[in-house]
Amino acid sequence: MNEVIDAFRRVIPNRYKRTGRGWITFDCPACGDRRGRGGFLETPTGGFRYRCQNGGCDYEKRTGWEPEGGLFGRPRRLFQILGGDISDIPEKWLKSDPNPVKLSRAEWVKWMMSDTSSKRPVLRRPEDLNTLTDFPEVTLPQDCQLLWQATSKNARDAQDYVLNRSSLLAGHPFCWSPKYPRHVIVPFVCRNKLVGWIARKIDEGKEYAHIKCPNWPTHYMYNQQLVWRRPTVLVQEGTFDAILMGSLCTFGNTITDKQVNLLNSCGKKIILLPDFKKDEWWAYWQTAKDNNWYLAIPEYPGDDGHSGIDHIKDAGESISRNGLLYTMRTVMGSLTQDYLHAETIYGMRSRS
Ligand SMILES: [Zn+2]
Repeated sequence: MNEVIDAFRRVIPNRYKRTGRGWITFDCPACGDRRGRGGFLETPTGGFRYRCQNGGCDYEKRTGWEPEGGLFGRPRRLFQILGGDISDIPEKWLKSDPNPVKLSRAEWVKWMMSDTSSKRPVLRRPEDLNTLTDFPEVTLPQDCQLLWQATSKNARDAQDYVLNRSSLLAGHPFCWSPKYPRHVIVPFVCRNKLVGWIARKIDEGKEYAHIKCPNWPTHYMYNQQLVWRRPTVLVQEGTFDAILMGSLCTFGNTITDKQVNLLNSCGKKIILLPDFKKDEWWAYWQTAKDNNWYLAIPEYPGDDGHSGIDHIKDAGESISRNGLLYTMRTVMGSLTQDYLHAETIYGMRSRS
C-alpha cells in the first residue's frame, strides 16, 4: 500500500459498509447524499476508483487514480471534499511519472513505413468472412454530386466545413446532395461496390447530426479493407478521423461481434482509440480487454488533461489543433495493455 491509499483510508467516513465485491460505500460527500451511494474501491495495482450512484453528482462519472499518475483533478478534489489535507500526501505522488514509456523513434518510423507492406495475413476463420467482407450495394441520395464539383451556396458551406476540420481532407471523394443540403455525405466502397454512406451535418446541434443510409451495413467498418494491408490496425469511432489517419471506424462507440471476429481473424496488432467523452469509452475498453488488444490513451497536446479547459475529445479535434503527424505520434506513443490504467485515464480525461 502507498501513502495515497493510506491517506484516503484515514478520511473515509466512519459510517461505511463493505460490499462483497470490495467496494466501501458511504454517504457521498460531494452531493450531500444520505443513502450511502458513494463507493470507493482499491485496485490490485495500488490505486483506487470512486463513483457516486446519486444522479447529478459530480462523481456520478467515476474517477480514480493509479500510482503512475499524479494525484490531481477530480481524484484530488475528492480527497479534499472528504476532509483530507493535501499536505499529508508526499510531493512525489502529486505529480505524474515524468518518464512514462513512449514509443521510440525507431519503432515509430517502422510503423510509418509499414504502411506499404503487402504482407498477406493468414485467415483463421474463413467461414465467417462472407458476411463480414461482403455487403449489399446501396444507392446514393438523389442528385448526388462530388462535393468538390458542387457549386450551390449550401455545397460551398459544406466544403468549408470539411476544410475547417482539416485541409488534408481536400480532394477526398465526399458527396453532396440537395436532398440533404446541410450535410456532407461520406460514401463507403468495399469490393468495388458502394456499400453504404453516412451524412454528417455541417451545422451545430445534435438533431440529424448523422444520417445513415437505408439498409445500413451494420457490421461494416469504414476502411476495413486496410486490415489486409497493415500490420497495425487502429480502430476509432469517427469517420473523418478514419479518413485522416488511415484507420478503421465503427461509426459509434461499440464494436459488434462480427467486427471483433474480423479484427481477430486478420492476425494483426489491433489498437482501439475511444473518444474521451462521458462514459462512451467503456465499450471499447471492455472489448479491448476481452480480446487482449491494445488501447491508446493519448495525452493530446494542448489538453492539460484535468482542468477541462481546451478539452480534446478525439483525434479529429487534436488534428485541427496540433496537426496530423503530431496527433499520430501522440496516439501511437500511448499504447497500453494495462487495462486498469487505461480505465483510469479514460475516466479522468472524458468530459460530457
Ligand atoms: Zn455524490
